[in-house]
Amino acid sequence: MLYVSTRGESAPLSFTEAVATGLAPDGGLYVPQKMPSIEPYLKDWAGLDYAGLCLEFFKLFATDLDEKVLESCVRDAYSRFDHEEIAPLVNLEERLYLLELFHGPTLAFKDFALQLLGNLYEAQIQRTGRPINVLGATSGDTGAAAIHGLLGKEGVKIFILYPTGGVSALQERQMTCTQADNVFAIGIDGTFDDAQAALKDVFGDLQFREAVNLSAVNSINLARVLAQCVYYIYAWLRLPNKEQNDVTFVVPTGNFGNILAGWWTQRMGLPVKGFRIATNQNDILYRLFTTGNYQVGRVLPSTAPSMDIQVASNFERFLYYHENEQPDRVREIMERFRETGEYQFGSFECDSLSASRVDDQTIQNHISKLHAKAGYVMDPHTACGFEDLPTEGTRIVLSTAHPAKFPDVVEEATGIHPVSPKLDKLKSLEPCSYTIEPTPQAVKKFLIGHIQNL
Ligand SMILES: *Cc1c(COP(=O)(O)O)cnc(C)c1O
Repeated sequence: MLYVSTRGESAPLSFTEAVATGLAPDGGLYVPQKMPSIEPYLKDWAGLDYAGLCLEFFKLFATDLDEKVLESCVRDAYSRFDHEEIAPLVNLEERLYLLELFHGPTLAFKDFALQLLGNLYEAQIQRTGRPINVLGATSGDTGAAAIHGLLGKEGVKIFILYPTGGVSALQERQMTCTQADNVFAIGIDGTFDDAQAALKDVFGDLQFREAVNLSAVNSINLARVLAQCVYYIYAWLRLPNKEQNDVTFVVPTGNFGNILAGWWTQRMGLPVKGFRIATNQNDILYRLFTTGNYQVGRVLPSTAPSMDIQVASNFERFLYYHENEQPDRVREIMERFRETGEYQFGSFECDSLSASRVDDQTIQNHISKLHAKAGYVMDPHTACGFEDLPTEGTRIVLSTAHPAKFPDVVEEATGIHPVSPKLDKLKSLEPCSYTIEPTPQAVKKFLIGHIQNL
């Protein structure tokens, strides 16, 4: 199986090459050259446990990776989840379910992809003998999940910049209280955008990048999308037979990585009806699907902060299929959008996708209402999914974070202070963090000072 760039101007790569590369040299994202069909396997997959299903799924995609290596990467990745089902499906009412994706080490769905990606990186280092240095910037969840995916891995060092005072106290603790000597959580005096700008410069210095074998951690890595496909298939297989028709997945959306994975499984033949893009007040995708105009706005901070995104980086992978797999069209649209901040599609429809949006007050109301009705306490990201729920068929809302990650909003809505033993444990650990100026020079100097393999 080979992977091609959405912009069509990079050579096709194998699975391990595409994973190691991340962003394609032409600026595009890797997608399978031909989407395989999973339909013939669904019956056999029904009895598998989560890791078993993940392994069988990845065998179709990671065709240049040794099967034994793949198996140990997969088994290990899901061994640190604290629920035996890994992704339990909770029945709320007649044909309405929550798929809990927060049982991993950092209590958000990003663990599903980053626990596996960390192991794939480690396997790559063992194959090539070359250490990797991972550098990223975060405004919260991604940094914590990336750090916990790479924690203690042989041959990897991870450097994550975050705005001092710009992430929640809990998120900061998740990044700084790891007690691992390959993790460097670095507070900067500036905003997330300042951090991003400095990183862009560092990655732009090709000589430096090559010398320290620098790798980016971001949501466009092919392996992340594929890892996220697995829980859609898992959830569908867990439904009672008579509820497996007419299934809609409702997905709290920011960077479009999660929902794209679901939509890919439909293209692979998972027989579901559709997907709902649930956004908060950062509603560029909602506006696109309702008006046909793709127009960037200002990021408005919300109570569901991991979805405070305007330009969704994985959207390009969807666009590629929307434009009938024509890279020329993708290039043209992305170019125009980059120059003007807008692209008019006339109308932008897709049979299987619909969209909703909520403001902060409505998020609160949905948390309160579900708690009153079903006794279930959910987090503010998950709550975005309850706006204008489809009324027909089976509905599965993806629950992307544990409520204890956002205790204040949840307590205000329900009167209950949500807790998690994993987060409580953090309070007894010593934080370890660094501080630098948000300049490319300072970042390089820090890296050089902490990498021995130069
Ligand atoms: C990252 C994140 C999202 C958004 O997922 P995307 O793949 O970026 O669309 C939603 N909820 C939580 C809790 C997250 O951490």
